[in-house]
Amino acid sequence: MIHHTSKLPNVGTTIFTVMSQLAAKENAINLSQGFPNFPSDPILIEMVQQALRENYNQYAPMPGAVILREAIAEKMEYLYQKTYNPATEIVVTAGATQAIFTIVSAFVRPEDEVIIFTPAYDCYAPAVEAHGGKVVPIQLQGKAFSVDWDEVRSKISSKTKLMIINTPHNPSGTVLSKADMLELSSILEDTNIILLSDEVYEHIIFDGEQHQSAALFPKLAERAFITASFGKTFHNTGWKMGYCVAPKELMDEFKKVHQFNVFSVNHPMQIGIGKYLKNPAHYLQLPAFFQEKRDFFLHAIKDSRFTWTPSQGTYFQVLSYDNITNELDTEFAKRLTRENKIASIPLSVFNTNKEDHKLLRFCFAKTEETLEKAATILNKI
Ligand code: PMP
Ligand code: GLN
Repeated sequence: MIHHTSKLPNVGTTIFTVMSQLAAKENAINLSQGFPNFPSDPILIEMVQQALRENYNQYAPMPGAVILREAIAEKMEYLYQKTYNPATEIVVTAGATQAIFTIVSAFVRPEDEVIIFTPAYDCYAPAVEAHGGKVVPIQLQGKAFSVDWDEVRSKISSKTKLMIINTPHNPSGTVLSKADMLELSSILEDTNIILLSDEVYEHIIFDGEQHQSAALFPKLAERAFITASFGKTFHNTGWKMGYCVAPKELMDEFKKVHQFNVFSVNHPMQIGIGKYLKNPAHYLQLPAFFQEKRDFFLHAIKDSRFTWTPSQGTYFQVLSYDNITNELDTEFAKRLTRENKIASIPLSVFNTNKEDHKLLRFCFAKTEETLEKAATILNKI
């Protein structure tokens, strides 16, 4: 028996694996882990197949295939009027998860503080803790999951190295407004704090809202890594493809780690996605596409006992079960999976001290057939 002290003593198996496994075992409809159950665009599949046939089967350049980095730069310019140099300021990663871990690894030293907003996506805190950093959580407030910017000011210290924001926000389905971003910009202006802006749902935003990318705010962009996920954008989470952008000086440090934790990522996928991304129509249609799914789902459960505020972005809808039971959300989510055959994600696992507000997250990136079956179940609860 080898004795060791865990670097992550409080980390168990991620809730996404726990709930997806339970859903499979119980043969339940799986609206827990966030992934679509409809296929990627056949045009994209063909572009990847073509890359395979054309033998893009050896290592890609370390920061990513040129065609893809150029397409990302064009997209950033087109959507946010912000120029990123594809040669020095863009790196293709194995999903946003690797980008996030690599950013933390490149900058966070033992005792450094990292501010995160809870409920927070579950890969942030362990990445910080694995590097000896200290997580400083700030709880989002009320049903709107709004940020208390005075609290943010009060939590910043001389040890704050990094702040992680996420808009559209997983798990709540809320978005940061322009006013929020301007407030953040003024708070960070005279500091050396690096911003990690996790924008994996940038194209999944509803009701005519504009995504407030950190790229739109010069004082944020100058200190920001922006992370993105092709899995979320193009319905292929299993490909584990993403990227990040940042000013050259920050990206130089990122690359020092990236080249040794992965070197480069899947080459044929990069070529296929690079060609596909050149056509803005492929991402401009996404808000309407997902809004239709959100509206279909919410209409189908309108007579249920759950209550909600419609999701503003992401492909998640949070439902409150205040009217139904007092059970812990973790218990209720498991019971619904076992007894009612529908799986969701309890929000408390993303909160500081596992605070339970009786909320479950449902993924509506599903076919209408699946959403209809899910609604039939939810309406009976
Ligand atoms: N950040 C957030 C907020 C997420 O929901 C996810 C899951 N897609 C990720 C990062 C990780 O993305 P990827 O699957 O590309 O690693
Ligand atoms: N981002 C996905 C979600 O929020 C899960 C990704 C994962 O399983 N790691 O459900």
